[in-house]
Amino acid sequence: MFILRVALNTPLRNLFDYLPPDNCPVETLAPGQRLQVPFGKGSVRIGIIISISDTSKLPRHKLKKAIALLDEVPLLPKKHLQLIEWVSHYYHHPIGDVVFTSIPAALRQGKAAKIKQEIVWRLTESGGKLDADELSRAKKQLALLLFIKQTPDGVSQSRITNKFKNSRQPLEALFTKKLIEKTGTSVSTTSSARMICPQGDIPWQLKPNEEQQNAIDKIIASSATYHAFLLNGITGSGKTEVYLQVIRHILSSGKQALVLVPEIGLTPQFIDLIKDRFEGKVVVLHSALSEGERLLGWLKARDGQAPVVLGTRSAIWTPMPNLGIIIIDEEHDLSYKQQDGLRYSARDLALIRGQKEKIPVVLGSATPSMESMKNVRDGRYQELRLSKRVNDSNLPDIQIHDVRNEKMHGALSQYLLKNIKQCLKNKQQVLLFLNRRGYAPVIMCHDCGFISQCPRCNVYMTFHKHKNSLCCHHCDHHEYLPEICPDCSGHHFFELGHGTERLEETLAELLPEAKILRIDRDSTRRKGAMQAMLKDIHAGDADILIGTQMLAKGHHFPNVTLVGIVDADGGLFSVDYRAGERMAQILMQVSGRAGRSDQPGTVVVQTHHPDHPLLIELANHNYERTAQLLLDERQQAQLPPYSYQALLRAESNKQHVAVKFLNIARTKLQALTDRKLDIYGPVSAPMEKRAGRYRFQLLIQSGSRQTMKRFLTPWIEYLGNLPDSRKVRWSLDIDPQDMI
Ligand code: ADP
Ligand code: ZN
Repeated sequence: MFILRVALNTPLRNLFDYLPPDNCPVETLAPGQRLQVPFGKGSVRIGIIISISDTSKLPRHKLKKAIALLDEVPLLPKKHLQLIEWVSHYYHHPIGDVVFTSIPAALRQGKAAKIKQEIVWRLTESGGKLDADELSRAKKQLALLLFIKQTPDGVSQSRITNKFKNSRQPLEALFTKKLIEKTGTSVSTTSSARMICPQGDIPWQLKPNEEQQNAIDKIIASSATYHAFLLNGITGSGKTEVYLQVIRHILSSGKQALVLVPEIGLTPQFIDLIKDRFEGKVVVLHSALSEGERLLGWLKARDGQAPVVLGTRSAIWTPMPNLGIIIIDEEHDLSYKQQDGLRYSARDLALIRGQKEKIPVVLGSATPSMESMKNVRDGRYQELRLSKRVNDSNLPDIQIHDVRNEKMHGALSQYLLKNIKQCLKNKQQVLLFLNRRGYAPVIMCHDCGFISQCPRCNVYMTFHKHKNSLCCHHCDHHEYLPEICPDCSGHHFFELGHGTERLEETLAELLPEAKILRIDRDSTRRKGAMQAMLKDIHAGDADILIGTQMLAKGHHFPNVTLVGIVDADGGLFSVDYRAGERMAQILMQVSGRAGRSDQPGTVVVQTHHPDHPLLIELANHNYERTAQLLLDERQQAQLPPYSYQALLRAESNKQHVAVKFLNIARTKLQALTDRKLDIYGPVSAPMEKRAGRYRFQLLIQSGSRQTMKRFLTPWIEYLGNLPDSRKVRWSLDIDPQDMI
């Protein structure tokens, strides 16, 4: 018998056995190909062959035939299938869902896995002879003509669209004037991955300093084996240049590079830099692409025609036949962990991929995660330090400012306000960091104390003044601010606490001349809004920038010399044991925005706890010591990275149903493990109700990953077959990052 073991996009955990389709010689079948198969009553699904076997648990007459084979050559290479199997085991997640999470939607739906042919433009004879003066009045046409002229074989349509905005009309004009022609159609990507490296001085390359050179040399030296590096470099130390030169080396040896960044929209400068340096060789993959664009990028990468793939979390799944290196920028960033469905960590997967493909993996950060710091200590990662800022600009002076008993102007202390005024007088920019959007986190009735809660979640709603509405930041429910109190019909509301919108208002009142720019999810919702604001900042069209953590990442603001951390206390005292780490990272990152050019910077941190040891270490720019304190704390409490956790979550619109399921789960796990794992709960989630559902969780912890894994496998299988499991929405989160 010839049995195809197929992964289907269902929540069921097993593979499904099928016989080959009619008229399909068995030697044409291989793992990694897609099939159409019958499933259930009359429905047809797409599946992927995971393996081929000569036996099945089902009797022959129960086996169905697959309907059709969709791929001549396997869609997914063997390495990809191995990674998928690893992920399915590690995260205890159905293999079908892993496979389908890992490929673009167009392929899930059965679209062909072929690169469409593309138009290529080249100069005609008269175009080649043209005197540039003749086009001096049509600047766009001239620019296009000169661009096309650079490549005698012609330039593909997509390269032109990438490089020029609104290129259609000038292209047509050139075509009508018979200056350019279409060279039939050809595949845009026949060029090999090999990067042509100019000899001698390379104009676009900066001369590395000693630390950078050391990092580059170490990484290159291990480019044929698995090796994990932590590029631990303070903000402004030139990590990007290290990545770029390493990538260049990898490309010149004919291999591909995969680069991950936390969020495309937040790091436009980094992306522009990579695109500029490796012009025409970069495929960018992120969530804002159309399905067609994403498929094209994915196929180019898989076929070895995209030398560099730059993307967000999900780009870790891109198959690349000649992969030579993986780089994870800002490795500590939370967005590398998927928070629903298959809850994988792209950073952790990068290391697994590196091991399997025997290539180096570089994790870069100015504020590495505690996991990575511990891995360095344990000798699993090699640390490469960049301890100096490239342009020798000094690190900012971090002042911990005690606001106790001080007269406040809204959220601003007298002291911070004085500094802001001085900075504006010097014609320099100020950045104020407040990680809370909206006007005020709570609005209250002055007559009876009533507070508006989200009807679907058990949280207070944030007041957004410009929309005159109350908004739930968890489920996006919003409603107009009532004119009278729903409880007592009173008319007097007052706002409690400060969000970015309120801070903006306070500043506008105190400093009416200043140009204020607020950057948060609300003000940057429109496409291109972020880019426009960044442009204003660089052009000097803003005096004060107010921002949430969006502003803390990756940007350079050379004219910012004062940074204010409006409220540092939230991070010091929290139920989440990771809050201290996050606060330290954000503080270091935001401070890194100050004084990057020749002017020195100052950071003022407002707090009610000026003696807190974390703040004191941070004020000395000592992230190492801060990390040491945090790690010691974790070790004493036996928390990750000194132990391993898994979180079983259950949600239901009936409280007792979710609790019952978790109680059964707990009893079963206890019976299986004989007290070898620590089990906590069930308890309500920190946010007990969200979008109308009650949420409970069970935390499982162990000092040994192996022990935990051994018990979770049979447990999850048991839970999957439990009738009570169908009454709740449940999921298992391995290495949970937040407990919300
Ligand atoms: P970070 O480590 O914060 O990512 P960047 O890579 O953004 O730092 O570098 C900060 C600045 O220093 C950039 O403007 C970059 O162009 C510049 N730079 C980096 N390396 C060098 C170098 N070797 N010589 C001159 N300038 C450099
Ligand atoms: Zn809500």
